[in-house]
Amino acid sequence: MKYDRIWNFNHGPAAVPLEVLEHMHESWFNYQNTGMNLMEWSHRSKEYDAIHNETVALVKKLLGLGDEFHVLFLQGGASTQFAMIPMNFLLDGKSADYINTGSWSVKAIKEARLFGDVNVAFDGSEVNFTRLPKQHELKLTDGACYVHMTSNNTIKGTEFHEFPDTHGVPIACDMSSDFFSHRFDPKPFGIMYGGAQKNLGPSGVTLVILRDDFYRTARQGITSMLSYATHVDKNSLYNTPNTFGIWFMNRVLNWMDEMGGLAAMEERNREKAQILYGFMDDNAEFYRGTVEKDSRSWMNACMRLPSEDLEAKFVAEGKSAGFNGLKGHRSVGGIRVSMYNAIPPEAIRDLVGFMKDFMAKNG
Ligand SMILES: *Cc1c(COP(=O)(O)O)cnc(C)c1O
Repeated sequence: MKYDRIWNFNHGPAAVPLEVLEHMHESWFNYQNTGMNLMEWSHRSKEYDAIHNETVALVKKLLGLGDEFHVLFLQGGASTQFAMIPMNFLLDGKSADYINTGSWSVKAIKEARLFGDVNVAFDGSEVNFTRLPKQHELKLTDGACYVHMTSNNTIKGTEFHEFPDTHGVPIACDMSSDFFSHRFDPKPFGIMYGGAQKNLGPSGVTLVILRDDFYRTARQGITSMLSYATHVDKNSLYNTPNTFGIWFMNRVLNWMDEMGGLAAMEERNREKAQILYGFMDDNAEFYRGTVEKDSRSWMNACMRLPSEDLEAKFVAEGKSAGFNGLKGHRSVGGIRVSMYNAIPPEAIRDLVGFMKDFMAKNG
């Protein structure tokens, strides 16, 4: 492959589109004839400002967001949002509902309990997180401040393909690992957030999107950096933002836009999932999927092989054959294939070719 690159199925930080790397490389030493790298410009300069505001506009365009949404670029990862959300929005005397679908939800719940009353509306630990809740299983509270959920469980490989109906209660959603991977209606979401390092570029910048009516319910008197109001009022320029991360995200969003936006991403991700899961289903005695079919993630596919020895061999031989990052999360074991937006269908076809050969030799 070009530059001797390999197929990279890392889980986060993860593959980025080659076109984006090439673009960054070309403008690295002399950004738009300024004689400087964009990283050498002040976050108050017109050079940086153009990128900053274009990135906001691209987020809105790609997700189809109206003027009622605020777009923020924060730091501290999704993990800081786990605390900021209840700190700002879990109001005294009220409670918030949390849908627990895996370790990221568990972490969000732990933080929320520091700030107020949490109702676990579904506890996936009872089914070892191998499936997502059906609508009728959710025990939602009338008048909750919000319903928190994780749209894609990166570690176990489950993903909501339809969002729950919360009867008008704003949804607070951790979209870290499937942001911009398919089309969806943004209206029910009071807040959506995600670290950039899966679908949107490098680590170190967190995309946060707030719906204005929900935003206005926020508690007052919170320390500045942890108050959404500070960042909304200053267009994420209260302090120095991660200018590199935002520039990189800008290029990734431009790439998506040129590819045909979220409709094209959805098509590409559906195709990849069909190729991989289709092959697994045809060979389920060797490549056994670990979650229920209707909960399967298009971003992270998890499977077990007949033995742990074979799994280790699969990861090692895969690596030599040019497939990086096939090992499952340390808490789960097995094999995990992360196939975020930047992974083309061709990579999954190549991987399935390798899986066929491996099974023929070891089956
Ligand atoms: C990767 C991931 C996180 C971790 O976020 P940080 O940016 O490292 O804080 C949180 N939630 C989900 C769903 C993830 O996939």
